[in-house]
Amino acid sequence: MSTYTKKQVHDLVEGTLDWDSVHKMLSMPKDEGRYELYMEVLQDAVTYDDKILLAVGPHLNIVESATDGEIVVQCDCGHSFGDYRENWKLSANIYVRDTAEKMDQVYPRLMSPDTAWQNYREYSCPSCGTMLDIEAPTPWYPVMHDFQPDLKTFFEWVGQPAPAKI
Ligand SMILES: [Zn+2]
Repeated sequence: MSTYTKKQVHDLVEGTLDWDSVHKMLSMPKDEGRYELYMEVLQDAVTYDDKILLAVGPHLNIVESATDGEIVVQCDCGHSFGDYRENWKLSANIYVRDTAEKMDQVYPRLMSPDTAWQNYREYSCPSCGTMLDIEAPTPWYPVMHDFQPDLKTFFEWVGQPAPAKI
C-alpha cells in the first residue's frame, strides 16, 4: 500500500504533480487515509468554515453547513447552490455558445463544432464568476445532472460517521 504526503495530494489537486507520481497513484493499491487527506487539502483551499464532504469538481464541493448542518453544493467563494440532491447547474449563470461567432472566441474558424449539432454551455458562479463546468451537448439536450451521490453509503464505505442531515 502506498502513502502520500499532503504536499503530493495538494499538487495533484493543483495539477502540478509530476507524471511519475500521478501514475504511481493511479496504478498502486489505494492508501487508507486518502479521503481524509484529500478533504484536508480541499478545506485548506477555502476560507469558509463549512465542512467539505465531497468534491463535485474544481472549485465546487458538497459541504455540511457550519450554521445549520444542511448539506449543500458550494463554490470555493462560499456561494451556496442549495441542496446537494438538486442540480446545482440550474442555479448557476449559464452562457451558451450557440453561434459560429461565439465559437470563434475559443476556436479558430472551421475548427469548432457546427452549432446546429453541438453547443457549449458554460456554468459559472453568480457570486464570483468562476467557471465551474462546461457541457457540450446537442442543442436540445436538457441540462445534465452529473451525479447525485449516496452520501450515507459513501460514509459507510470510508468508515466515518455520516453528517446528521443526510
Ligand atoms: Zn463562487
